[in-house]
Amino acid sequence: MAGLPPYLFLELDRIVERERARGKDIINLGIGDPDQPTPAHIVEAMKRALDRAQNHRYPDYLGSRAFRAAMADWYRRRFGVTVDPNEEVVGLIGSKEGIAHLIWAWAGPGDIVLVPDPAYPVYQTVTLLADATVYPLPLRPDRQFLPDLEAIPEAVLAKAKMLWLNYPNNPTGAIASREFLTQAVELCRRWDILLCHDAAYAEMGFDGYRAPSVLEIPKAREVAIEFYSFSKPFNMTGWRIAAAVGAAPAIAALGQLKSNLDSGPFTAVQEAAMAALAEDPEAVFQTMNALYQTRRDVVVAKLRAMGFPVEPPRATFYVWFPTPRGMTSAEASAFFVEQAQVVVTPGRAYGEHGEGWLRIALTVEKPRLEEALDRMARALG
Ligand SMILES: *Cc1c(COP(=O)(O)O)cnc(C)c1O
Repeated sequence: MAGLPPYLFLELDRIVERERARGKDIINLGIGDPDQPTPAHIVEAMKRALDRAQNHRYPDYLGSRAFRAAMADWYRRRFGVTVDPNEEVVGLIGSKEGIAHLIWAWAGPGDIVLVPDPAYPVYQTVTLLADATVYPLPLRPDRQFLPDLEAIPEAVLAKAKMLWLNYPNNPTGAIASREFLTQAVELCRRWDILLCHDAAYAEMGFDGYRAPSVLEIPKAREVAIEFYSFSKPFNMTGWRIAAAVGAAPAIAALGQLKSNLDSGPFTAVQEAAMAALAEDPEAVFQTMNALYQTRRDVVVAKLRAMGFPVEPPRATFYVWFPTPRGMTSAEASAFFVEQAQVVVTPGRAYGEHGEGWLRIALTVEKPRLEEALDRMARALG
């Protein structure tokens, strides 16, 4: 535990608490959690599922057969990908759980795990908890926040057990082309590395963009595992439901570890997730993406008016932009909380290469977003 990196939100939390205690109206743009409710038809399906007594018992360790079949069917409809629901799908209590357990199941002392920087912190922290070694892959703006896979030394690749990717990307909002994903699959096949793709934002795209699954890439199924989460696209973060799909040996290892630690997601929640996939999911995505796109356009326009060089992200509900006036990300976050009563996330919280950047989450109603950006503009003068 002592070897884990310091929690960088702590100081920010302290400042927010102090400002709130002074009666200040803080607008929090740091929250990567949808502000809208779960769609009513999913909630109704949950209510029906709660009334079925067989759902009150222990769930299946790996997700019910029906849920795994529904996931396989969804991958066929959504991505044109065929997977075996028994060997290549496992239900998860949220993808965070699966990501953490897969690292623990797959990597150990002496192994290298290739981890993007900046990134969702779990890939790094659990690699450290598993006593394996993190090899950071910098994400830079001049490479559209895609790692330079050709720059990884052969000695590192020889010891690497896992490559983590996450597109559409948190925190940068970047997307990955099929060409890039193909390059990653080929690298992992050549070096016998498990390609782990966190697809938490797969359904979030703007201006007509739709993200691919890594499993669409030829021969990916043998080396790649993908984490598909209901949390962000269906406003279901609190429900804890997701699935891992892909390479059978990785699914088996994850399932074996999980069956020793937990009992699978609540069956009623699995039934609600099945309803989410069955009853016109595209309509839900369209509604949510239209909402986030409107908010994105407000934020990007106002940041540009302040002089920030920012391109509208094609996906996710994040806007990633450089700090003002050469401030560090922690200094800039503290500045905006104190001078504008607005919380923006310091990029450093996602890794060394997040330094010099800030993240705004589009999970706040448009009038509040406008107010927040106007306050930031006034604070900057
Ligand atoms: C939100 C998020 C997750 C967590 O998803 P859950 O399914 O709710 O556990 C995973 N990865 C990334 C990159 C995220 O931003």
